[in-house]
Amino acid sequence: MSHNHFIGKLLGIKDKNIKVDEDNWLKEDVRNGLRCKIISATLTYIPKACKCCGCVNAGSIVKNGTKLTHPLLLDMAGCPTYLELKKQRFLCRECGQTFIAETTMVKKRCHISNDVKHSIAVQGTCNISEKDIAREHRVSNNTVKRVFGAFYNTFRQTYTYLPENLAIDEFKSVKSADGAMSLIICDSDSHRIFDVLEDRRNKSITDYFLRFSQEQRAKVKTVVVDLYGPYQKLFQALFPQAELIIDRFHIVTQVNRALNMARIGFMNTLKKANDLKAKRDYRKLKKYWKLILKKEELLNGTEYRYHRLFKGMVTERGIIDYILSLDEGLRLNYNAYQTIVFTVTHRKPDLFRSFIHEKQRGLSAKMDQALKTFRQSERAIVNALSYDYSNGLVEGINNKIKVIKRTAYGYRNFSNFRNRIFIEYKLLEIKTVA
Ligand SMILES: [Zn+2]
Repeated sequence: MSHNHFIGKLLGIKDKNIKVDEDNWLKEDVRNGLRCKIISATLTYIPKACKCCGCVNAGSIVKNGTKLTHPLLLDMAGCPTYLELKKQRFLCRECGQTFIAETTMVKKRCHISNDVKHSIAVQGTCNISEKDIAREHRVSNNTVKRVFGAFYNTFRQTYTYLPENLAIDEFKSVKSADGAMSLIICDSDSHRIFDVLEDRRNKSITDYFLRFSQEQRAKVKTVVVDLYGPYQKLFQALFPQAELIIDRFHIVTQVNRALNMARIGFMNTLKKANDLKAKRDYRKLKKYWKLILKKEELLNGTEYRYHRLFKGMVTERGIIDYILSLDEGLRLNYNAYQTIVFTVTHRKPDLFRSFIHEKQRGLSAKMDQALKTFRQSERAIVNALSYDYSNGLVEGINNKIKVIKRTAYGYRNFSNFRNRIFIEYKLLEIKTVA
């Protein structure tokens, strides 16, 4: 076989009607200030019928010159590469009209080869901005948008199926979206995005889920939501058979914040006192904030280390004991925090339940409020300690969505944003021929 056959293969030309020229097949030129490679080839064949009148070719269609086109190929050796393609022109003697040879390599009246378009569509699944994809493929931003539109169908909910176990979370949406926050719905078992809703307000959530039949909604077994009160009522009404589960992370955050505020409140009283010891204690409380939040069971009580603020060797346990001896209120809040964290990490629903119903004295208003919130959604929280589902998965997806938004320098249009999320999560199938 001639070497031109292999050049064609190297370039990925699959159309057998395109032949790379024998002589002078490679030229170099400067276009838009860039050195580029130009490969000459010819497209010709014997047409079966006339494109204009449709009559079968029985010697009535003759070759009639060529038309020169320059479709863009994928880069070769880092240089922009064009195909100088001479397309055969045919004359039909029956109708007297002319038409031009067609190829699968590049669409009619298009200057960008299908390989380039396919490559753009594939790049859409990576977290690269449309602008960068455009620059890399030497096309315009609008071409990238058009290619995405042609290669991927817009995601449309069919409303015929609901996963049995749902996880729901919200994220900050684009400016143009109705409502500042959008909602993301995931399948807890398959770990896939089920849908992304533009608006997380009660009415639109209700409208959305009511489009699923009552039977489907009744099949939903669990829904993981966050501690935001109205959601719980809403989802319980929409999925009457489902158990609501509060995300464990959100439970811990509540008491975490309360303990931090109790610590800061105590630090502020120390700040007002005007003696040296109070100042030193203030610095200790400030420095060891992380140790105070550490799970009590993980505190090290045997390893002595030098700590400057204690002017000597002391263990982690020793530091905490000292800090708690300073203030009774702080100690009570600390114990409440540690009990909640313990029941959540070791999944002790009974202990949790009895603790929040016990009369607690000396807790800060914030900690009291946290326990009150727990009592209000007791069932959902106890579920969190008995079921394995949590919102970790959605939080992860949420994080990636933020990255997608940032990479694109923000989206103006919500449906474009939503589509790109689905493309990057490979939830839309790529079409081979657009
Ligand atoms: Zn004709």
